[in-house]
Amino acid sequence: MKLSFRITLFAFTFALYSCGGSKNTATKTVDNVKFEVNLLDRSDDTYKVTVTPPTLTAENSIYQFASTAPGTYQIMDIGRYVKHFKALDANGKELTTNQISTNQFQLTSPEKISKIEYEISETWDTPVSENNIYLMCGTSIENDHTLINGQAVFGYFKDKQDSPITIKLDYPKTWTVGTALSKNSDGLYIAEDYDKVVDSPILLGNLTKANMNVEGTNVDIYTYSKTGLVTSNQILESMKNMLVSASGFLKGLPVKNYTFLFHFEDITNGAWEHSYSSEYIYKEDKWENLEAQVVEIAAHEFFHVVTPLNIHSEIVDQFNFITPVASRHLWLYEGTTEWAAHMMLFRSNLKSTDDYFNTLSKKIMIASKYFDPELSLEQLSLTSYTPAGQKQYGNIYMRGAIVAGLLDIKLLKLSNGKRGYIDVINDLAKKYGPNTPFDDATFFSTFVTETYPEIQYFIDDFIINTKPLPIKAFYNKIGVDYNETENAFSINTTPTAEQLKLRTKWMTPIRL
Ligand SMILES: [Zn+2]
Repeated sequence: MKLSFRITLFAFTFALYSCGGSKNTATKTVDNVKFEVNLLDRSDDTYKVTVTPPTLTAENSIYQFASTAPGTYQIMDIGRYVKHFKALDANGKELTTNQISTNQFQLTSPEKISKIEYEISETWDTPVSENNIYLMCGTSIENDHTLINGQAVFGYFKDKQDSPITIKLDYPKTWTVGTALSKNSDGLYIAEDYDKVVDSPILLGNLTKANMNVEGTNVDIYTYSKTGLVTSNQILESMKNMLVSASGFLKGLPVKNYTFLFHFEDITNGAWEHSYSSEYIYKEDKWENLEAQVVEIAAHEFFHVVTPLNIHSEIVDQFNFITPVASRHLWLYEGTTEWAAHMMLFRSNLKSTDDYFNTLSKKIMIASKYFDPELSLEQLSLTSYTPAGQKQYGNIYMRGAIVAGLLDIKLLKLSNGKRGYIDVINDLAKKYGPNTPFDDATFFSTFVTETYPEIQYFIDDFIINTKPLPIKAFYNKIGVDYNETENAFSINTTPTAEQLKLRTKWMTPIRL
């Protein structure tokens, strides 16, 4: 994810990842959970949902709503938005249900349930006293469009998180639907499990659509623009350049299909990434005024396809929607992703050297001015679900990205210019891939094994602890001067042979 603070004190943006982890693709139709959402009735700002369950037993006696969602690092408590929850038998007779906690409805006779009906309020326009849900992670239901994030509309039966799902959407004939979900022959959207639904937002309404093929990857763009100021065709070229850049950086694009969902209305909030799509919530403006900012965010979101999709721990792989469980590795998921986004634009000349240095200086300034330097990246990660942790969360895009940049230099130095951070990341993505998680508790030592023993000290000092960052000394190694008083970077015009060698590798343009 990436949040945008442009309208408040300072300007930065950060983005969420989400990774459902593709599991088995068995499609036993009898065990499908079927959802129907009536978007023809948009009254009261609620989604009218009907659930046809699979065969249920006493084991499945809870209907669960999400407490959080992958990559958001925030408490969502979706049960807060649910109204008129009803379980009905085959004769339409109501069966007893009890809301036993914010997110759980107990079903007294699950085996008799023929369908469940409920209404769920949109998160955008529903006031709550705490834990406001980021706009890009929530829901909005309006006359000419709606945004659906799966965890904010759908739930699952206890022990049925892995059941295949079909979704029927009833919506006005003139509307266009944008989502990474595919349809079956009956026109229903299908997902292998609940995680996949959460991983696949749906934007529908009066949208423009554009499509292109980038280096063998099919890319769809869907755009809602309040007054029609921005169209998908305008965005197409900017996304193409970014994706070609990503392809060079990653030695090929890691997905065959990717969907961008853009929402331009009254508010800027940021973006949320998923395995095969991402969504962006920005205040409507001319595309030329939005382009630079949105492309940087899109680069960040797209890079999440590498981590966490291809490099993630078991906490991401088997996501716990009941109780939020923090991971240690936001330094990797978010810090590294933020570094990589700017670095890939820089190395492919979509970002100038000056722009790259300016971004870095800005991150240093924001980290020191707005965030606690005594909270380590690991602690920031582990406390992300607490109110105190939430206040520091934005630092993962500042200090996290700065540290990733230092790690890149350290690796270049140790490998004598042969293997920088992106090479290590590409190797790790090959080693793990989408279906093999790493062990959250031991990944630091795995990372050391995959690189150099000295990296253990780097991790101890700058990720697990909060030793002051040796920015000047590290950048000096690659022939880049850092003026600490001015917080300004510049290229050293008289580098030593070794500095020149490392700098050449550091800024080697991606072959496009
Ligand atoms: Zn992110």
